[in-house]
Amino acid sequence: MNPQQVKVFDTTLRDGEQAPGFSLRVSEKLHLARQLDRLGVDIIEAGFPIASPADAEAVRRIAQEIRRPVIAALARCHRADLERAAWSLEPAARGRIHTFIATSDLHLQAKLRMSREQCLQAAVDSVRFARQHTDDVQFSAEDATRSDLDFLCRVADAVIAAGATTINLPDTVGFTTPDETLDFFRTIRTRVPNADTVTFSTHCHDDLGLAVANSIAAVQGGARQVECTVNGIGERAGNAALEEIVMAFHVRRDRYEYTVGIAQKEIYPSSELLTRLTGQAVQVNKAIVGRNAFAHEAGIHQDGILKDRRTYEIIRAEDVGAPWNPLVLGKHSGRHAVQKRCKDLGLDVEGAELVEIYRALMAIADDRKTLTDSDLLAVVSSVRTAQPAAQGPVDPFDTPPAAAHALRDRGYGHGV
Ligand code: MN
Repeated sequence: MNPQQVKVFDTTLRDGEQAPGFSLRVSEKLHLARQLDRLGVDIIEAGFPIASPADAEAVRRIAQEIRRPVIAALARCHRADLERAAWSLEPAARGRIHTFIATSDLHLQAKLRMSREQCLQAAVDSVRFARQHTDDVQFSAEDATRSDLDFLCRVADAVIAAGATTINLPDTVGFTTPDETLDFFRTIRTRVPNADTVTFSTHCHDDLGLAVANSIAAVQGGARQVECTVNGIGERAGNAALEEIVMAFHVRRDRYEYTVGIAQKEIYPSSELLTRLTGQAVQVNKAIVGRNAFAHEAGIHQDGILKDRRTYEIIRAEDVGAPWNPLVLGKHSGRHAVQKRCKDLGLDVEGAELVEIYRALMAIADDRKTLTDSDLLAVVSSVRTAQPAAQGPVDPFDTPPAAAHALRDRGYGHGV
């Protein structure tokens, strides 16, 4: 494998799905998993089978149907968890058991009430047991970034000897800084004897807004797997956003000579599908996938964009599969674009009405560089007002057309 190749481990269906407000039904998880496959992720973490029968079922069905990516199932270092994960992965073409235990003294003492030695033993036993079911075993040291470094190195060494093939060092609580992360990965990979025989992985949370920066720093420190989610969803402030890492690597390939196997045009469709399935909107100014990510309203910016898109855009919306309509419509717009823009404005138009609106709009578009929403709404309104006359006598007491409401609501009260 190319030493600069970074595997994308998507945990939208596990870490993302376990965040408040993001739960999905089995059928919805399957739907999203198909899209993640199209997106090109290397590993889909499909769930945490011991958490519920539905979780186990979802992992099993995804493992059955999705054949290209590795399908991972999460398990604590408990026999029952590991057996459930193994059962869920039985139909997989390539299944990975992902087992984890916290290694920080805080978690060991306050949460698990275990000694370091007990933790080490549980980790080794679990990896060995998992290896009886699959040769692809990932071990995660939960709260790794707040763990004692010597102990963490001992654990990594021991689980590699026990057969782990991927070692994930999560910043579970989003506490680390990028410079620290880089040192952390470099140090551990230097100190653990067989580090070069396994893949190191990073899993960062965004509590300080540093998840993506930390993930990139981890890669610079030698990690070759990044765990991330679509739209950056996940516990609390979320995980590192897949789309941001991928596009940072792409746009700044002069600095980051890493490659990922992601189909960039599937980024926006993935984001949109997730939003639709969960009903949770993306913040409008979210990098790459937010509604404003490629929109320009200020006159100076619009002017710049009209002259050369590169003045205010470092990514082309279409390269990530997103619609690009920063300045609304013009004479080169197609019927579909007009329909889409109408829909954005709350107006459903189709069939003969759409043809009529399109014609009327193009008739005025010739004279202009751009068409505003107000132009579009006025055209819709005039077409809708004219239509009843064609079909029969106009009822003067009929309710005003929906377009007129839309215009009034948007402050275009006059002249419609
Ligand atoms: Mn997490």
